[in-house]
Parts: sequence; structure tokens; C-alpha cells
Amino acid sequence: MRWSERQVAMLREMGVRVWAPHAEPAGAVAVADEAEAVVVAPPSAKAPAPSHAPAAAPRPAAVATPIAAPRAALPAGIATMDWPELRATVAACTACTLCQGRTQTVFGVGHTRAHWMIVGEAPGEQEDRQGEPFVGKSGQLLDNMLRAIALTRADAEPARQVYIANTLKCRPPGNRNPAPAELAACEGFLIRQVQLVQPKIILAMGAYAVQSLLRSKEPVGRLRGRVHHYQGVPLIVTYHPAYLLRNPEDKAKAWDDLCLAVETARATGMAAPG
Ligand code: SF4
Repeated sequence: MRWSERQVAMLREMGVRVWAPHAEPAGAVAVADEAEAVVVAPPSAKAPAPSHAPAAAPRPAAVATPIAAPRAALPAGIATMDWPELRATVAACTACTLCQGRTQTVFGVGHTRAHWMIVGEAPGEQEDRQGEPFVGKSGQLLDNMLRAIALTRADAEPARQVYIANTLKCRPPGNRNPAPAELAACEGFLIRQVQLVQPKIILAMGAYAVQSLLRSKEPVGRLRGRVHHYQGVPLIVTYHPAYLLRNPEDKAKAWDDLCLAVETARATGMAAPG
């Protein structure tokens, strides 16, 4: 089998180069920037069909699974907040020391009833400055990953526009790792965001997103490749785009994770994006 032009285009968006077992005619196989390119095998059952193609039959065995995260208690009052109240509460929050160094809180962006929710880790310098999660190079890579499966953070219908939030709403100084106490202090806001969005599927990107949502300290590499659940919502673990920029050889695994997410969405009856 060969990659379709659209699949090649999707992979090129992520900086993933296609492996071809035979010499290919010029233009048949797209080659990404060699500096970032990684190689993936030709199409198999794991690759999602182009987003506008008919959905493939679901593969239930591939999406059956395990960990259901315990649900943490919400801090008083948060459980009944609507979006404006929650946003204002986060903006004024001083529940941990990260409030002291922030330029602003980074609340979240996207469709407030999105079918897909993306959960990242903590704001970096540019996010702190702009007030939006996933900006800069890692944001561009995330946008490309989303585009590869016909999703977007730009205005669109809820089946296509994602909602993006971080586990921490304030930047840790010097982009250090979040402390457990900070994750605990902030998690009620994320829980409420999930409750309000009511996503049909969650992509957890990076170790601290996983720690917060799944209560697991297992590395991402050991949790990816199967379907977890958070508050009853299927959850797929994958690498954070910032990690992928430092480790482009793992982009092919991230592509597998996106394929699993698309399969899971289809298996649970969601319309394929696009
Ligand atoms: S990181 Fe979260 S808990 Fe800490 S001050 Fe910011 S909003 Fe509040």
C-alpha cells in the first residue's frame, strides 16, 4: 500500500517523513525538513483515513482499556462556577506561590463545548506573555498535529475546534517543572474546565498533564498506546510538543497516538473531524 497524497501532507505537517520500501517517483512521497524529519512505515490499519474519507471500521480491541483516574474533590465554590466566574477566579488566584511571578494567568482557549480537549502542562515564557496556551514553536507543532487530523484551535464547529488548557495556569519561574503542591492547588480549575466542556475525548500531552489527570507517575512512554479514562471520558496519552521538538525521532510515536485517538473517537460513535 502507498500513502495517499492527503496522508503524506498530514505527516509533512508534523515533520514526519514517509518511509518508502521502493524507489518512489518524484513527488510521490513527501520529505519533510531533514533536520526534523522522522520516518514512519507505510499505511496500515493504524493510520486514520483522510479526514474526508469514509470512516474505517472501528477496532475495539485496540481501544479497550485500563486506568480510570480517581476524581479529586473540587475546592469550595468551583464546582458550580460557569465560564465567566471560573475565568475571573483563575485570574485572581493566589492559591500557590506561582501567582507572584506571573505576567498573567493562562486560562485556556477554544470551543467551550469542543468534542476534543487538549491538556498540556504549564505555561512557558511566551504563554505567560500572551495569555494563551501552546504558543511559539511548540504551539505551531501542536497546530500542525491537530491539522493532521482535521482539528483546529481556530473558530470552527465543536467537532473540529478543540479546547486547550494547561494543568497549571501560571508559569513556573525559569520554566522549571511544576511542584506537586502547585499541581494540587491548581487542579480544581482544570477539573471544572473538563466538566464545562464535556469533551468526548481528551489528549493528555506530557508527564505533568498525565500526573494531574491520571494520578500516575509512569512515564509517558509507558502510558501511551492504550485508552485511559478521566471522569468517564476516553483519554489518550502522548508526548508534549515541546518534547517532540527536542526529540523529533518520537514524532512517529505521536502520530501513532493521534491515530489511536481518531480510532477511539470513531469507536465511541463520534463523527470523524473534518
Ligand atoms: S498556578 Fe493555579 S493555583 Fe497557583 S496561583 Fe496560578 S491559578 Fe492559582
